[in-house]
Amino acid sequence: MNKFNILKQYLVIKYFRKFKTKEQLETYQNKKIAKHLKYVVRTSPFYQELYKGYEDEIKINNWAKLPVVNKEIMMANFDTFNTVGIKKNKALEFAFSAEKTRDFSSKLQNISIGLSSGTSGNRGIFLVSDEESEMWSGAVLAKLLPGSILGRHTIAFFLRANNNLYSSTENGRIRFHYFDLFDDINSHLSRLQKIEPTILIGPPSMLRKIAEWQTENVLKLRPKKIISVAEVLEDIDRGYIEKVFGLKIDQVYQCTEGFLASTCSYGTLHINEDLVVVQKEYLDQEKGIFVPIITDFTRRTQPIIRYRLNDLLIEKKDACPCGSPYLALERIDGRCDDLFYGYTNNSKQIKVIFPDFIRRAIMKASDNISEYKVIQKDFLKIEVQFEVNTGHYEDNTKLSIIKELLELWEQLQLESPNIHFSAYNRNPSATKLRRVECHLKQQFEGKIH
Ligand SMILES: [Zn+2]
Repeated sequence: MNKFNILKQYLVIKYFRKFKTKEQLETYQNKKIAKHLKYVVRTSPFYQELYKGYEDEIKINNWAKLPVVNKEIMMANFDTFNTVGIKKNKALEFAFSAEKTRDFSSKLQNISIGLSSGTSGNRGIFLVSDEESEMWSGAVLAKLLPGSILGRHTIAFFLRANNNLYSSTENGRIRFHYFDLFDDINSHLSRLQKIEPTILIGPPSMLRKIAEWQTENVLKLRPKKIISVAEVLEDIDRGYIEKVFGLKIDQVYQCTEGFLASTCSYGTLHINEDLVVVQKEYLDQEKGIFVPIITDFTRRTQPIIRYRLNDLLIEKKDACPCGSPYLALERIDGRCDDLFYGYTNNSKQIKVIFPDFIRRAIMKASDNISEYKVIQKDFLKIEVQFEVNTGHYEDNTKLSIIKELLELWEQLQLESPNIHFSAYNRNPSATKLRRVECHLKQQFEGKIH
């Protein structure tokens, strides 16, 4: 690992590569993409084949016209997709063995290999070279580290699977401590107290657990920064954690496909447009809900070009006071898999219900709900789990929840579902917490309206 490269990237991103206007930013992105495309067409047999017939578009850098790919396409063409000749079987075998032994330190041909499970069960394999890993580390530090890189920082990082990708940011002053979310949750307690992290990074379900420990006085931490990753940060969890620590939570939108967004000093989540370009495939333009198609012009080993993610994002309507030209998000709304569906009243057509609507309905039902989950079991079957703050009655809350959800379905002119309740499952675990979750087997991609 080359520390000089990390520091260089840190300095460039933090101090030198600044864009005042959208035009400046787009000129930079287009220049980068043009150069990147040349490299990719030369080195990835998959893209070479895919772009046959698009030579003229590439010549004039009309990259927005190039075909869209996704995880399924990437995995189906793994061997020719990557530019370093790593075969899928070999990579899988390697990654599985690391997952099993929980030893993520070895590499294949100087390439780190990561697995992403994906909520719908389709595994993805991701390849990152040492150089890319250094660039990533520099970018993360530049965007997230409070104060200077020369200061002392102790970082507690909760991860589902450790990965070489993340182990590169250690140096004398900055200490990374990894916590494996597969370990028993209580084992983290004493370790946290011992290291006294100045920065806490983890999924909101884990951060919430830490905040609960703090409230119960079994833990006394004084972090300077708390960063939420990997799960949707719900207002209900954000409020609780911020209150306990008296800090504003920062957010990172990072997936195996790239370091996509991070919060500015005003707490707004901005796409890291100095690293990736995001195109919007709108599902609801008026509400600003879209699926991102990303182009990462920094990834050479496994090129991510016009790659459709399975996420739902909501753009921010008002400009952020920080003045950044980077695309501002209202929130990350979840996975496309967590869209709910209903039948229209008259024609039995299928219509989509966004997770954001469900969330608002629950929050409207009562101020006293401390935890919840809403699961669509079938078209007309909705399960709700919740807990209320002590001293409040569940029965009243149940009635309000039913009322709000039925009202939502009515507003959307959909056939009313049956709503039933079950006990809230409190255990944070290695599986991602999704407060709005759809179990419908059928997928209606491309048919939703
Ligand atoms: Zn901002």
